[in-house]
Amino acid sequence: MRRQDNSDSVQPERLAWLGGFVSAVAEQGLNWLLPPRCLGCGEDVARAGALCSTCWQQINFVAPPHCVCCGRPFEFAADPDSRCGPCLADPPPFSRARTVMQYDDASRGMLLAFKHGDRTDAADGFARWLGRAGAELLTGPGEPLLVPVPLHRWRLFARRYNQSALLALALARQSGLTAVPDLLVRRRSTPSQGGLSRSGRARNVAGAFTIRPRHRSTVTGRRIVLVDDVLTTGATVRECTRVLLHAGAIQVDVLTLARVVKAVVPE
Ligand SMILES: [Zn+2]
Ligand SMILES: [Zn+2]
Repeated sequence: MRRQDNSDSVQPERLAWLGGFVSAVAEQGLNWLLPPRCLGCGEDVARAGALCSTCWQQINFVAPPHCVCCGRPFEFAADPDSRCGPCLADPPPFSRARTVMQYDDASRGMLLAFKHGDRTDAADGFARWLGRAGAELLTGPGEPLLVPVPLHRWRLFARRYNQSALLALALARQSGLTAVPDLLVRRRSTPSQGGLSRSGRARNVAGAFTIRPRHRSTVTGRRIVLVDDVLTTGATVRECTRVLLHAGAIQVDVLTLARVVKAVVPE
């Protein structure tokens, strides 16, 4: 019995140590096979999921002060509960949107490589950033479900993967939250949003999303964090939010890697 007690108290530590050792060896082995590359420029870096110092300095990470609702950065100091003009004029259906960085010349290449290229290895590094930028959405009362913005199946077929689902799954692994990658369905293939005006984008996505029937009860009474790579006008996440709230979600927040930003003065 005593032996049993000893082994019980020692084993978890040993296992943890062994686990750490095995994963360190595995990581080293993987590094040897596939040296970690900067998420931005592809130069060799010391650690997977990192940026080289040059790329790091160029990225415009979004930090407070920002709009308490949409997360748009303010140029000047503001109260933590300040809202920007657009959110006051036309409140979005989601509660809060948070983002890691601005979508600009410095981040565009990295985001396109993740979307269209084969830098799926970036998902874990990006998810760590999402975890930090979205900490207030991911914690707090009512454990949220992580739901990626879906691609239409034709586009999914062409690209082979949905970058937003990769982000949601990596974030779920790191945070212990649950991701439901197929909860939302894009029921028609919407033309690309590029080049469309704000109202054009809203019309383009109206009625484009629905909830997969077997997940209808999953949504009821739940808090949801929508995950996407880039937020542009927000037409897509607004439409997804409306669908989720209509199905009984109690709150929807939005977490993206990047967003198009025109800095505004707080009102
Ligand atoms: Zn770099
Ligand atoms: Zn705002």
